[in-house]
Amino acid sequence: MVRAWVECSKADLGHNLKLIQGKLQGGCEVMAAIKANGYGCGLIETANMLNKLDVHAFCVACLKEAIELRKEGFKQDILIMGYTPIEQIKDVIHYDLIQTVVDLSYAQLLNSLKLKIKVHIKIDTGMHRLGERAEDLEGIKKIYECSYLQILGIYSHICANDLNKKRDNEYAQHQLQLFDEAILALVSDGIDVKKAHIQSSYSIFQFPECHYDYARVGAALYGVLATKKDAKELAPSLRPVLTLKSLVAGIHHLEKGELAGYDLQYEAKEKSVLATCSIGYVDGVPRALSCGKGSVLIHGIKCPIVGRICMDQLLVDISEIKDEVKSSDEVVLIGKQGDNEISIYDVAEACDSIPVEIMGRLGSRLDRFYI
Ligand SMILES: *Cc1c(COP(=O)(O)O)cnc(C)c1O
Repeated sequence: MVRAWVECSKADLGHNLKLIQGKLQGGCEVMAAIKANGYGCGLIETANMLNKLDVHAFCVACLKEAIELRKEGFKQDILIMGYTPIEQIKDVIHYDLIQTVVDLSYAQLLNSLKLKIKVHIKIDTGMHRLGERAEDLEGIKKIYECSYLQILGIYSHICANDLNKKRDNEYAQHQLQLFDEAILALVSDGIDVKKAHIQSSYSIFQFPECHYDYARVGAALYGVLATKKDAKELAPSLRPVLTLKSLVAGIHHLEKGELAGYDLQYEAKEKSVLATCSIGYVDGVPRALSCGKGSVLIHGIKCPIVGRICMDQLLVDISEIKDEVKSSDEVVLIGKQGDNEISIYDVAEACDSIPVEIMGRLGSRLDRFYI
């Protein structure tokens, strides 16, 4: 037993992967997004599970994540989706990684190193975060003229996912159209664009008719979309993979009017019993869940978080079940216990966030188990 931990369900990850693969058309493969410590599930172990499930391509945010995977011996193609400073490019080559070309000037800088570098070209279809503009075909063609670059693919990213907004839907369709048009123009110019990809979690369900070479999937693989409502509408069979647990560290009996926690944010309105749980905001429990905004499950009963969440611990009101609870009892912060559940969506909504932010911020000192 440990003080606080994440449990990841291998079966649910496998289930989600199958479901996603079933949506992909004509040879499109999953490129699994395992950035941010595998969305909280653990980088290496998640890669291990996906490797066993025969996933051939990974994408990560940064060089550091990619190197960690190579050092563990993973042979998959690994795409670095973010910016890598030019001084670190020798590691991209040394570890046989694929770097994203974020725009023409970056391509030219890479080319000036006169080193053979594997890349995918990023095309900006409207997010305006990374990429050479899809409309700027001359700029894109100049990237293909960079003779030291080993260009293995071209991709873009859809940024409008709100299902219930017509504006978002039209924007996403427009992004797809810009991407397709750019590719057509390049191909008709005799350029072999190799692997093309634009879909991620939402668009594989929203636009299942698309067929590209990869779908870069993160959230859906781990069983979540941005909201419970979206998941219900688009992909009701997804299964959230991750559970977050800790233990009862101690029990405190308070008289009416006594105060508890940092900054005296809790005052007992009547005789109350509090339990200390061995997990805090550094472990990834959002501090915004303090003072009743969030709750935990103990013995299958929802107990409100009281007072300010601390760095390593938090207090909950167990007055309702005070006679049953003892030190070392299991506390569920995300997931099921008994007949009750606190879903990742409940947690995200309570602190104005989304599931993948909560998952990605789960602390490195949590233990992780794969069941
Ligand atoms: C994180 C990321 C993805 C995966 O997105 P999900 O919504 O988690 O599926 C795909 N592409 C890019 C560029 C990303 O940054």
